[in-house]
Amino acid sequence: MIKYDFENDEIANICNNMIIYAVSKRASDIHFDPTENGLKVRLRIDGVLQDHTIVPIKYQKNLTTRLKLISNMNITESRLPQDGSIKDTINGIDLDMRVSSLNTNLGEKIVIRILDYSKSTEGLEALGFTPKNLTKIKRMIEVPNGIILITGATGTGKSTTCYTMLQYLNKEETNIITVEDPIEMNIEGINQVQVNSEIGLTFGRVLRSILRQDPNIILIGEIRDSETAKIAVRASITGHLVFSTVHTNNSLSTIERLLDMEVERYLLSSALTGIVSQKLARRLCKHCRKTRPTTSYEKAVFKEVLGKDVNEIQDVNGQCENCRNGYYGRIAIQEVLVITDEIRNAINDKNVNREQLRELVYTKDVTTLLQDGLEKVLEGITTFEEIYKNVAIDNELDELYDEDYEQELHDLKLENKEKNTQETSKEIPVKPKIEIKNDEPTDII
Ligand SMILES: [Zn+2]
Repeated sequence: MIKYDFENDEIANICNNMIIYAVSKRASDIHFDPTENGLKVRLRIDGVLQDHTIVPIKYQKNLTTRLKLISNMNITESRLPQDGSIKDTINGIDLDMRVSSLNTNLGEKIVIRILDYSKSTEGLEALGFTPKNLTKIKRMIEVPNGIILITGATGTGKSTTCYTMLQYLNKEETNIITVEDPIEMNIEGINQVQVNSEIGLTFGRVLRSILRQDPNIILIGEIRDSETAKIAVRASITGHLVFSTVHTNNSLSTIERLLDMEVERYLLSSALTGIVSQKLARRLCKHCRKTRPTTSYEKAVFKEVLGKDVNEIQDVNGQCENCRNGYYGRIAIQEVLVITDEIRNAINDKNVNREQLRELVYTKDVTTLLQDGLEKVLEGITTFEEIYKNVAIDNELDELYDEDYEQELHDLKLENKEKNTQETSKEIPVKPKIEIKNDEPTDII
């Protein structure tokens, strides 16, 4: 927890310092939660919320008002939810943030999302795809028409992947138009349109106009409803390359979701080019990770999923000055499906059931999210626990599930710790330094 001097420092200054501190720690969100004891400030770093400070009740209102003011919100409105944004340069750092306010029973809660798309300018190679998946992606996006979907839950780096692909294709002779809500990053040389449903400017409406603007490539921020899905598919079969995102877990559920949205089977089957599904897992700190023996459950999972006998893996071992709790940054776990003729025929045939479709999708050519994740555990990039938590092992391996696993892992780690006399798990004190280091090792997403 960090202490700010509310008595003597100006509230504007404290606000700036909090934001700059969060950015310097690579936080993706700042939460200001009203509690009975004041405003609790938390930072989400590498996907995990951590306490930052408490703003005394006396200063809570001032701080909230200041945040709303710099986000261009109406400061006299505190009962209705509001959205705002901050685009500013504080202490020489360009900041792009989305801010939202919501009135709770204890007062206004504000959340700032810090957008960092610097990763999308580092190219496809920096996104963490295995060489096999990267080859498939390049083949997929170089086809002049069709629809490519990026899927995953909120905050799994779908936008970063989409933007990176667009930048890869962003050449002078290409007309790229996007329709987004919100526009998450401005890209030079691309026409971006913001949806505004208040004035009737919906995804559907913008898309119909876009088609008259002679585009080669269209990015549709997200397919949320049947109307958007249908226009997206139509656009792709009339000679355009369409990118979009869908809120689903994997390739199979994405096909099912589109069929649920009443997209005609014959259109979908000819339009769909490929599906990239992704999740994020925390990246193991390479300075302090440690090898440990695998548990019997882990052994069984590796054997079943990868067909490999794995006796030891790398794991967290306390923390060091380079990381937090043994992790540094996050990495993407991916599944890439290129639609084959067999899959096209199956999509087009309403008598094909889920199991039959599953068999066609998950052939040897496709590495599932679970396989990709476990391979990354073997490389020491992430931990089994991260994959266990994030990649729904329960779904794919119900029959292998071992209810003693967590206990076994706990005992094993305890045993390992006792052996290890080094004191590495000590809390590392952090000082609020208003300085951003550019030479820090970069993570993928
Ligand atoms: Zn470390």
